[in-house]
Formats: sequence, C-alpha cells, structure tokens
Amino acid sequence: MTTQDVISQYERYVMDTYVRQPLVLVKGKGSRVWDLEGHEYLDLFPGWGVSGVGHCHPWVMKALRGQSTKLLHVPNNFYHPLQVKLAKALVERSFDGTVFFANSGAEMVESAIKLVRRWGHTSPRGGGRYEILVMERSFHGRTTGAMSATGQPHYQQGFEPLLPGFICVPFNDLKAVERAITPKTVAIMVEPIQGEGGVRLASAEFLQGIRRLADGHRLLVIYDEIQTGFGRTGSLFAYQQTGIAPDVMLLAKTLAGGFPMGAMIASRAICDVLTPGTHASTFGGSPLACACALAVLEVIKKQALLERVNSLGRVAMERLKALASRCTIIREVRGQGLMIGIELAIDARPLVAACRTKRLLINCTQQTVLRLLPAMTITRAQLDRGLDILEDVLMEHAKLGSREQGVGSRKS
Ligand SMILES: *Cc1c(COP(=O)(O)O)cnc(C)c1O
Repeated sequence: MTTQDVISQYERYVMDTYVRQPLVLVKGKGSRVWDLEGHEYLDLFPGWGVSGVGHCHPWVMKALRGQSTKLLHVPNNFYHPLQVKLAKALVERSFDGTVFFANSGAEMVESAIKLVRRWGHTSPRGGGRYEILVMERSFHGRTTGAMSATGQPHYQQGFEPLLPGFICVPFNDLKAVERAITPKTVAIMVEPIQGEGGVRLASAEFLQGIRRLADGHRLLVIYDEIQTGFGRTGSLFAYQQTGIAPDVMLLAKTLAGGFPMGAMIASRAICDVLTPGTHASTFGGSPLACACALAVLEVIKKQALLERVNSLGRVAMERLKALASRCTIIREVRGQGLMIGIELAIDARPLVAACRTKRLLINCTQQTVLRLLPAMTITRAQLDRGLDILEDVLMEHAKLGSREQGVGSRKS
C-alpha cells in the first residue's frame, strides 16, 4: 500500500472526525518517527503528549512484552498485583487517597463528575450540591459529560442538550470564580496549564485562591492533569510547583507511555463515596496498562527526566523568547518545562504544514498557537535541530507577512 492508498481507504472506511495530516506513520523510536515511505521525522508533539517518554521506550516495551506473555486482562472483580502497585506508587507521589483506573482522559473527567456529584448527594458535608465550576477555554474531552464540562462552545454545538450542572467562568479570574459560587456548587475543575486552550498557565495566586474559596465553601477541587501530569512541566504533577494539592486529580496521556490508560486519584476524605457498584470500567487498570505505567515511573526516576525537562525546557524557552524579540509574527511565548506554546499574530496552521515538509512534527491549537510537547527523553541535539527548523519557518513567514504588507496585497 502507498500513502495515497491508505488515505483513500480512510476516506471510504474510517469516520471522518479528524483533521488529519497526509502522513502514514509506521514506526517510532524516541523522538523520531518514520512514514510508510521510509522518511524520518523529528517529533516535537509525540502523540498529543501520550508518548511523553518517547515512542517505544525500551523499558516500556520490555514491560509490555513481559506482561503480555502472562495475562492480558483481569476483570475488576478480581485482584492483580500490578494494579495495586501502581495505585500505591501514584498515591505516594501525590496525596493520600485511592485511585480509580480507566482507559482515557475523558473517562477520568466522567469519573470525577460522578465522584463529586456522589459526594454532594451522599456525604454529610455534601448538602445535595452538584454544580461544577469550569474554566473558559478549558478542554476536558469529547464524551457527553466531558464535552459539557469543556469551556469552549464550538465543541458543544449541535450536541445539545448538554449535561447540566456546569458553570463556566473566566480562567485566572478569582473574583469571577467567587461570584459564580452558589448554594448548588460542589466543585471547581481546572487545568494547571490549559493545553488545548493555548498553553495558558494558571497563576499560583489563582490556584491558591481556588483552594481558599473551596475550603471556605466546602467545595472540592479537581485538577485535570491529563496533559500536564507525569513530568511534562518539570515536576511529576504540575500542581506540585505551587504546592496546592487538589481533592481529585486526573491523569491519562503520558501515564502508560503510549498504552491507553487513565487514573483518577481522590483524597482519603472523599474517595469512599464511590462504593461497590457505583462506578466501573471493564478494561480499567489492566495488567498491561499497569505494567507500562510502572515502567514509565521507573524511566522518569532512573533516567532523571524531571531534571532533563527543567533544563531542556529552560533552553527552549530562552531561545524562543530571544527569537520573539526578532521575529515580528510571535506575540508571546508561554510554557513550563516541556509544555510550550508560541502565540502568533497570524494563522499558525500553515506553519505546521511548513514544518512537516521540513520533516518536523509540531501542533497548532486555537488557530494561532503553535504547541510543542517534546518527549521528556529528547536529546539536546534533537531539540536544537527542531528549534532550528522552527526558527527558519517562523522567520520565513515573518518575511512573507511583511512583504505582503509592503505591497499592500495582504488578503483577509
Ligand atoms: C487530552 C485531554 C483530555 C481528553 O483525553 P482523551 O484521552 O482524549 O479522552 C482531557 N483533558 C485534558 C486536559 C486533555 O489534554
């Protein structure tokens, strides 16, 4: 099959729900991927953050292969040693509580919605409350509940009626959050850094203020760390840099190094409201997924990836900020660790295509923000090369823009 064969068969047989790039990827190793024709690409956006320890990390592959010869699936009405080993490891690295496992980010958001509603309806402190405050420009996933919780109307249009019980408030605006609290409010959900929303950082004051408001009004705080979690920002979980712990934390993406997995950690004080029979996932916490996630934790620790993320993140940010002072189309560079957004004054989508023709894979979100989520295992040389290509593409587009302006031919 050629690339064109694959693409035309997709058109016939695969539902057309994605904007796809014309690349058929067949192999990956670290920060490199190969297409069907054998071309090599440098991947600064591996799997939307899923391949956070790089494609096919050898330790993850070894764990996957090892477990696959023993048992693939254990239903959750039995026990498996790896599931509890992982749960214990997650709790010991975050805050005291218990863990619920499923297979994707949206499922974890659904789990959190159920958990806080259940707490509102059944705990002595719950008071029958069910409303959840969510942030403008947030992203929580595509299932009906997660989509309803997402603070971007364009994801919701045509799917009404939405799941009720979400109030959307401006991000980083503590006064607005305070004003939105009603006698029905039970929780506040926030991403420590909005990823899909354009790599926008919650300020430490905002997260501190949310905690204070929550404590004052007996609300639960949910951190969606599906994108920021597992090392991406330079600490295992992004919230650890502010020291403000949530009551509920959601993980997926990098968690199992490419294997589908999600986890919800809920604090000891509230976790018992989801009693036997109230929530479940057939595939959740499978031995394969747990083996992979344990391997990812091992990689992060033994390969000192948090230190790498911090040092390489600094290198990238300094370089991009310096570039911003010379490159007229860059409005702002934002980020933390290896989660980086470059906001442009122009449509950023053509730049993704331009990078691709130079064998570099990156992403664009919110139309004007280039997003980089390099693997935490990326080498300094690979990062430098990726930034060299990106710089060339940015400078070319800046020149193009000024030339068009110069002759007055700029199209709308
Ligand atoms: C990707 C993402 C989700 C949704 O995860 P899926 O696995 O696609 O369901 C939810 N929240 C955040 C912050 C994400 O980045």
